[in-house]
Amino acid sequence: MAESVKVLCRCRPLNDREKALTSKVCVEMMGAEGKVMLFPADNDPPKEFTFDGAYFMDSTAEQIYNESVFPLVESVIEGYNGTVFAYGQTGAGKTFSMQGLEDVPTQKGIIPRAFEHIFETTATTSDMKFLVHASYLEIYNEEVRDLLGDSRNTKLEIKEGGDRGVYVAGLSMHVCHNVSGCADLMKKGFNNRHVGATLMNKDSSRSHSIFTVYVEAMNAEGSIRMGKLNLVDLAGSERQSKTGATGDRFKEATKINLSLSALGNVISALVDGKSKHIPYRDSKLTRLLQDSLGGNTKTIMVACISPSDNNFDETLSTLRYANRAKNI
Ligand code: ADP
Ligand code: MG
Repeated sequence: MAESVKVLCRCRPLNDREKALTSKVCVEMMGAEGKVMLFPADNDPPKEFTFDGAYFMDSTAEQIYNESVFPLVESVIEGYNGTVFAYGQTGAGKTFSMQGLEDVPTQKGIIPRAFEHIFETTATTSDMKFLVHASYLEIYNEEVRDLLGDSRNTKLEIKEGGDRGVYVAGLSMHVCHNVSGCADLMKKGFNNRHVGATLMNKDSSRSHSIFTVYVEAMNAEGSIRMGKLNLVDLAGSERQSKTGATGDRFKEATKINLSLSALGNVISALVDGKSKHIPYRDSKLTRLLQDSLGGNTKTIMVACISPSDNNFDETLSTLRYANRAKNI
């Protein structure tokens, strides 16, 4: 189990606002060793962390995919489940890493790269027939909604039963014939993260989104296997104290933190390997991903951070969270 959880850290460049504020870069990395150093404002020694990969400001999604994500998607095509999470404070680069820039080839994100990988492989594997489906959902305030179906405002229930395992009742499934079909679903669902009528005042950074690609394969004898790839853009991990949340916003923040801490607990229990009880049931997120975390599955956590000294506290908390997910 232990080696099937990989933790990567990616640091984005300073943005224009940070440059205008003459923020200082307080992060350094030694990429080849997966080492991340975070420098406090005083001259205290840096906080050091070591991950399975460390990707500094000038890194590309292409590198991250080829070095780290490729084997996970290979195993999905072979019939196993896999999950890629993007974790970090709002603005740290989660969506940039998952979806990326369409018009900069090296910065096309992990999700469209996975589509390309899947369809290239299925097109060149002549002794098998493949069928690819996708679904896209959002968890907001511990409520599950479809980002692609006709009823975006309907709360969906998580069910468990028979050979279907854990599933979302009524979640729409979409057949994908090619890369562009998948990419269209990604864009459509992403746009729906912003406009759900009952979620009017929310910003997509308050919700977790899960894009799932189901790869079914049938061999010449007619036996079928299915792998599931979950691509998860998590809600911003920032603590509500900083954003001054009250009322609904506060409730929201505690629910976000609940899912993120439940996820942290599940992953660290899996990595630890000694826990008899894995607390999947503690949140919608972990319940939904139950069959894709642990067992024969692969998991990658991409911890996204800002390089700027004014984000020091949030960056430290992201690195600590990521460190828990890592096996020691
Ligand atoms: P999040 O989804 O974590 O809230 P985003 O992915 O939307 O953050 O990133 C915030 C901003 O920073 C966006 O404008 C994005 O284009 C930019 N950005 C994030 N990561 C990078 C990166 N590695 N290189 C260049 N720009 C980045
Ligand atoms: Mg985002």
